[in-house]
Amino acid sequence: MMPNSIGARPKSPPPGRAKKTTPQRATSPTASARRVKDTAPSNGTPRRPSASLETKSHPCAKKTRAKPTHHQAPKTTPDKRSEGPEKRGSQAAATDSPSGSVKKDGVRFKKIPVGNKALLGVLESLKISKQARSEATDKVNDVVDCILKHVKRSSEYFQDIAKLPTGSYYENVKISEPDEFDIMLTVPVHRVQLEQFDSDGAFYSVSFKRNPRTPLVYFVLKDGTLSAHNMLFEFRKHVIEATTLMKDVQVERKKKGCPAVTLQVKEISVDIVLGLEVHSMSWPAMTKDGFNIVDWLGTKVKKDFKLKPFYLVPKYVGKGWDEKEGVHARDAWRISFSHIEKGILKNHGSTKTCCESGGSKCCRKQCLKLLKHLLNELKQKHPKELSKFFSYQAKTVLLHGCVKRPNDSQWELANLDDCFQQLLDDFIKHLETGSLPHFFVPTYNLLESCSDSKKREFLIHCIDFERNNRFPIFK
Ligand SMILES: [Zn+2]
Repeated sequence: MMPNSIGARPKSPPPGRAKKTTPQRATSPTASARRVKDTAPSNGTPRRPSASLETKSHPCAKKTRAKPTHHQAPKTTPDKRSEGPEKRGSQAAATDSPSGSVKKDGVRFKKIPVGNKALLGVLESLKISKQARSEATDKVNDVVDCILKHVKRSSEYFQDIAKLPTGSYYENVKISEPDEFDIMLTVPVHRVQLEQFDSDGAFYSVSFKRNPRTPLVYFVLKDGTLSAHNMLFEFRKHVIEATTLMKDVQVERKKKGCPAVTLQVKEISVDIVLGLEVHSMSWPAMTKDGFNIVDWLGTKVKKDFKLKPFYLVPKYVGKGWDEKEGVHARDAWRISFSHIEKGILKNHGSTKTCCESGGSKCCRKQCLKLLKHLLNELKQKHPKELSKFFSYQAKTVLLHGCVKRPNDSQWELANLDDCFQQLLDDFIKHLETGSLPHFFVPTYNLLESCSDSKKREFLIHCIDFERNNRFPIFK
């Protein structure tokens, strides 16, 4: 459990739960954190990318798992912080010192330092035991390997399919228990033409250039586009076949717009996402102004990453029959850079030795874990009000934070408290402006689905309450 220092009594009732204690909240954070999956937003309008370009991003995700808590009806009771971006903006400068006190509309407003020790205690409670991790990994690997073999053997279209592990579990920022896995099974494609399907640059329709020599032509529609829907349908069929005789494995029902086939392997949830591995001369034009890692990770690292293929997943939002220039939304693909995210989170230092034995220790991953945990917990408590917020947004805030503060010395583990508070400041600034550009496709705003500023203000209010009361939610 949490060190006492974090459990300071709330000074004022948090939004939507005045003086209310929730029985579920009494359990350890680990118990509830796992119920909300690492998901990304889906914004409910056609042709608009739904966030996470990562496998877990599908809207079906595990949102439904969030257990309703007994919180009171939401009230965006406007405290001074919910008075709108302008007012808060004027405070921003004053809050630059993460743990200092700030003056707010004439009222002293104290941001209480939590202390590194207490935050490290939270992180400790989120750790997955080595044994649990390796047991779950073995189990999932067995199942996925069997599926892979079966698909290769039984389908003439997926001969070249291969495994690409993605997502937070593999990035080592998984919080809570090892009960959720995302695995992308990818099929390489060469000589393809991409047409932008949405104005933001996250969705594409795919067609082959002349004389394609690939069995995937089977999925090409009359208009020449490679049908995401048909390909996923065929893939799903083989996954179901493969798992029919497997003990303890169940395939969950298909969810609309979802690029994953979700399996339940005993208590573990495994999302198997079909992906196209696009071998192309360059990444799509809309990525031109994104991925600004030069000051942080260097020119060479950026260049090397940009030589890697990118991925497309059969994901759509809105109605599958929504149409643009003859292409239906359900046949479009969404771009994914989850492999790059994994790569930069793994080697995240401005110096090569960051976090290696002998090198200095930074707190980038710890900050991300804490932010994800905070968001998870808040979503548990306010599932309806915070349904448009996802941990992919948290990850994106961290990536932008790393670009803004590129040096390892700006993330020293000894300054965890300050760094985490700074990251919360970053997050709040994005919420205030309603702008959180996707890290790779900056024209795509990950807060587009939260254009209703009340939702953003609600989250700001929740975060402010937590940070001003030593994070009672972590208790
Ligand atoms: Zn580090």
